[in-house]
Amino acid sequence: MKNSDTCVGCQACVEMCPYHAVDFLYSLWGEGKAHVDEKKCKECGLCERICPSKVFPFNAPARIVYAAFSKSNRNTGSSGGVFFELAKKFIAEGGIVYGAAFNEHLKLVHIKAKNNFELLKLCKSKYLHSDMTGVYAEISKLLKNNIKIMFVGTPCQVSAVKNMFQPKYKENLLLVDFLCHGTGTQKIFDICIKEEQTRKNGEIVDFTFRAKTRKCEHSFSYVLKNGKNTKKISGYSFQFPYYNSYLKYSIFNEYCYNCNYVLNSRVGDITLGDFWGIQKYNKNLNDQDGVSMLSINTQMGKDYFNKIRSNCNVYEYPIKLASDNNQAFRERECVCSLDKKHTLEEVLCNNGETALVKMLSCRNVRKQIIYARTPNFIKKIWNRVRGRK
Ligand SMILES: Cc1cc2nc3c(=O)[nH]c(=O)nc-3n(C[C@H](O)[C@H](O)[C@H](O)COP(=O)(O)OP(=O)(O)OC[C@H]3O[C@@H](n4cnc5c(N)ncnc54)[C@H](O)[C@@H]3O)c2cc1C
Repeated sequence: MKNSDTCVGCQACVEMCPYHAVDFLYSLWGEGKAHVDEKKCKECGLCERICPSKVFPFNAPARIVYAAFSKSNRNTGSSGGVFFELAKKFIAEGGIVYGAAFNEHLKLVHIKAKNNFELLKLCKSKYLHSDMTGVYAEISKLLKNNIKIMFVGTPCQVSAVKNMFQPKYKENLLLVDFLCHGTGTQKIFDICIKEEQTRKNGEIVDFTFRAKTRKCEHSFSYVLKNGKNTKKISGYSFQFPYYNSYLKYSIFNEYCYNCNYVLNSRVGDITLGDFWGIQKYNKNLNDQDGVSMLSINTQMGKDYFNKIRSNCNVYEYPIKLASDNNQAFRERECVCSLDKKHTLEEVLCNNGETALVKMLSCRNVRKQIIYARTPNFIKKIWNRVRGRK
C-alpha cells in the first residue's frame, strides 16, 4: 500500500500486516495515521483489502427505524440505554462484548466485557477516537476458538472489523455501529483535562460525557481527587472547553470532515443513535431523557433486537423522520468547521496549550447558563420573537 491522506486511524493494517511494515504516527493535533515503510512492504495487498477508507461494506439502507429506550436501564446510556440491553443479552448467551472505555489514566481504549460489571465501563459515548491496539488480534483469536463477539465502534472501526472477519466468521460476529458526527483526539482531551486540574487543584480520575445530570442533551461530570478527598463535579457541555468545541465540530480528526459513513446505508448489523426531535412525532417521548434510534440492517441484527425488544419501549417510524433531525445520518460536517480546526492547530503550534484551551472555551458562560435554565416555553417565545424556528 502507498501512504495516503485518507487513513481513518483504525489501526487494522498496523496490527495485521504480516511483515510489520506499518507504523502508527501521531500529528501535533494527536491524530494517528498509518505509515508504510516501503522497504519492508512486500505488496501482499492485505492492508488494502481491510482498509475502511478503501472498502465500504455497506448493508442496504433500512426503510423503517425504531425509537426505543430501556425500561429499567435507560440512564446507563447516552441516549436510551439500548446498547446496555443488547450487550447484557449477548453476554448472558456466552458472548464477549467489545466497546470503548476510559482506563485508569483516562485514555480511551477499546476493551472487552465478559460480565455486567465490566459492561458498565463501556456504556455512554466518549467523544474522542479510541485506541484499538491489540484488539484485532484478540478478536481474531476468540473467533478462531468459536467464541461469539459483539463489536461496537465508530462506523469506520466497524468497517475495519467487518472487512477483516467477514464473511468467514459471520455467524459469530455481531457488529453495532452508531451515528457518528466525528471524533476528537486523546491529545486535545488530555490538554483540556490538564488545564481543568490546574484550575481546580486536583486530579480528575473519571470523566463522563452525556452525564444526564442536568435537564439538557449534553452535560458532563467528573470525579476530582485532592489528597484523600474526592468529589463529583458536573456541568453543562459549554463549561468544559473540549466538550464545548466538540459540539461546534471544530476539533475533529481531519478525516471526519470527509467521512464516507454518514449515510442511510450502514455497516453494522444494528446502528444506534439519538432519536433527536422525537417529541415532535410522539408527545410522550422526550429526547432529553434519552431516546435511542435503532436502524436494524441485517437479519442477524433483527434476531438480536427481537431478543431484547420486551425490555424496551419501542416505536416504529420511517427512516426519514430520524435522518431529517440528525445530521450524522445524512451529511458530512461543513468545510467551514475544518477551517476553524486549522486555525486552532496554528494556535496550538504557535501559542501553546493554555492559549488553545482559551480558544476552545465558551466566551459567555453566564449567558449560556441563564439560557440553559430558562423553561422551554419561554425559549420558544424568545426564538419566535427573534424570527427563529
Ligand atoms: C464519537 C461519537 C459521536 C456520536 N455522534 C452522534 C450523532 O451525531 N448523532 C447521533 O444520533 N448519535 C451519535 N452518537 C451515538 C450516541 O451518542 C449514543 O452512543 C447512541 O445513541 C447509543 O446510545 P445508547 O444509550 O444505546 O448506548 P451507549 O451506552 O451510549 O453506548 C455507547 C456505545 O458506544 C461505544 N463507544 C462510546 N464511545 C466510543 C468511541 N469514542 N469510539 C468507539 N465506540 C464508542 C461504547 O463502548 C458503547 O458500546 C455518537 C457517539 C459517539 C461515541
